Amino acid sequence: MISLRLKLVIYFLVLSLLPLAAAYWGLVSAARTSETRAVDERLNVGLRASLAMHEAEVQRTRARARALARSPVFQQALARRDRDELERLLGSSSRLRVEATALRVGRRSALGVETVVTVRGRGGALGRVIGSVPLGASARARLRDRAGLLPVDRLALTRDGRLLPTPSVGSGPLNIPAAQSRTVTVAGMRYRALVAEPFEGHRGLALTALSPVTQIEAAKASAEHRVLFGAIGSLLLIALVAFAEGSSIVRTVRRFQHAAHSIAEGRLDARVPVDTRDELGQLGRAFNEMADQLEAERHRLREATLRFGQALTATHDLEQLLHVIVVAAVEAARAAGGAVVGEAGDIVRVGTPEVGAEQLQFPLAAAGESFGALVLHGSRFSQDEREAAESLVAHAVVALENARLHEIVERQALVDGLTGLPNRRQCEQALATELSRAERFGCPLAFVVADIDGFKAINDEYGHPAGDRVLREFGDYLRESMREADVAARWGGEEFAILLPSTDLSGAVLLVERIRALLEFREIVIPDGRTVPVTASFGIAVYPALAAEAELIEAADVALYRAKRSGKNRVVAADEPLSQL
Ligand code: GH3
Ligand code: MG
Ligand code: MG
Repeated sequence: MISLRLKLVIYFLVLSLLPLAAAYWGLVSAARTSETRAVDERLNVGLRASLAMHEAEVQRTRARARALARSPVFQQALARRDRDELERLLGSSSRLRVEATALRVGRRSALGVETVVTVRGRGGALGRVIGSVPLGASARARLRDRAGLLPVDRLALTRDGRLLPTPSVGSGPLNIPAAQSRTVTVAGMRYRALVAEPFEGHRGLALTALSPVTQIEAAKASAEHRVLFGAIGSLLLIALVAFAEGSSIVRTVRRFQHAAHSIAEGRLDARVPVDTRDELGQLGRAFNEMADQLEAERHRLREATLRFGQALTATHDLEQLLHVIVVAAVEAARAAGGAVVGEAGDIVRVGTPEVGAEQLQFPLAAAGESFGALVLHGSRFSQDEREAAESLVAHAVVALENARLHEIVERQALVDGLTGLPNRRQCEQALATELSRAERFGCPLAFVVADIDGFKAINDEYGHPAGDRVLREFGDYLRESMREADVAARWGGEEFAILLPSTDLSGAVLLVERIRALLEFREIVIPDGRTVPVTASFGIAVYPALAAEAELIEAADVALYRAKRSGKNRVVAADEPLSQL
């Protein structure tokens, strides 16, 4: 996998290659043309300067020749053909010579431009003074140096389209028009050449400037190298900038990646540093805002879950639970309102359930027991909100079922399973409550213990189920016989207790006696259809004669025992002399 940094470098390089190549090509061709032009210009200027200097030399030589020609001493010496005198007058200058009929004084130069002045005496033409300005190799080298040409340049001579032998160049055809620069090949070497207009009267002899093309090529190559180095330098710089920029982007992306991982792992406090205003900076800000919202949302959810959990565990009251469930569901699903709807309509309502176009409905049912349906109203529910409400309902149903079971257990703890009467525990609680009430209001309170006579024999004769039936029937009978405020309870086994608030001893004896008496006439039918005769004995103890709970119970027990001892099927009050019965 190519890294983003490397990709950026490659993209930038590819992008910059075309313009750089165009610039390189343009610069190289411009350098080539300008190099050739510079050489042409140098040859042109150098050649002109050489010609001008040479011409000046010719003029000076001509002036000297004229001066000599006009000199009478010279004319006389010429007329006399006085060779010695003529040589003396010509002096050391090798550029002048004298020619006359059958006379020649002075040296003729091999290659040069000549100027001729006729010497006229009284008798007509005496001869000629010829000035010659040399154009030999050394003369041309001097001219070249003084004309500003370079040491590599050559001043040569051409005649009629041929280059005359020139040191370090050679000779050969050079057929190019005058005053126009051309590239030519002489003796296998290439030169840039410029031929001047031929000297007048010298049979096409012309001064020519030459510069080796290798010189131009070297300059061109050097220019090309410079441009190439420039281009490579630019590419390197671009790569460097792209690399630096890429590194900065990669660093930023890594920070994002790191923060995103942290958030994915649940560390919602992770943020990215935002230090720029560009798109990456904006992305960073958006990322941080998202993290803020996530954190706030998690906080809200935690709070809601905590409160919901606390509420669920805090109560086993069904109605209170339903209220908590609706409140939590409305909050979790961001609903406008909600309700638990039962068969008879709304059981609990929160918010404004009528508002909102959308409705979510969840049945609240567990283990075959229905608690109604949770209905949520809102403008629009997201998938998340639906799921939140759904998971909440799943927990809520468990709590509701727990509350129901709790209710059952609670009832079981206080109610006797066989007879449905309060059990001993509840009876003792009721006794304590009624006793404190009696103390507070100064009322009497009667406590009665009843025991079925010969119950073991019933069990033995009719069977245990029949015994159970007898216990149930006896319980029903007691319940029916009680007044509103009285309490009948199963005390244990075939013993029952009766609590008679605001009843004194005589009232209690009357009431219990009636119960005992009527029991004899009650027909108790067992499952096989037979009728079982049942009687019971009763012991009564009364507050305030006995003040404490334990004393009351014990006294009632003792009275019952006495009732049994004295023949069963009778009512005995505590501390009551048996003789009164
Ligand atoms: P007494 O007249 O002296 O009260 O004699 P009794 O036979 O009624 O009393 P006893 O204490 O000898 O026997 C009580 C019997 O009641 C013994 C026990 O098996 C029976 N019993 C206790 N609880 C239940 C019950 O829930 N169902 C049935 N069928 N029998 C029970
Ligand atoms: Mg008993
Ligand atoms: Mg008994």
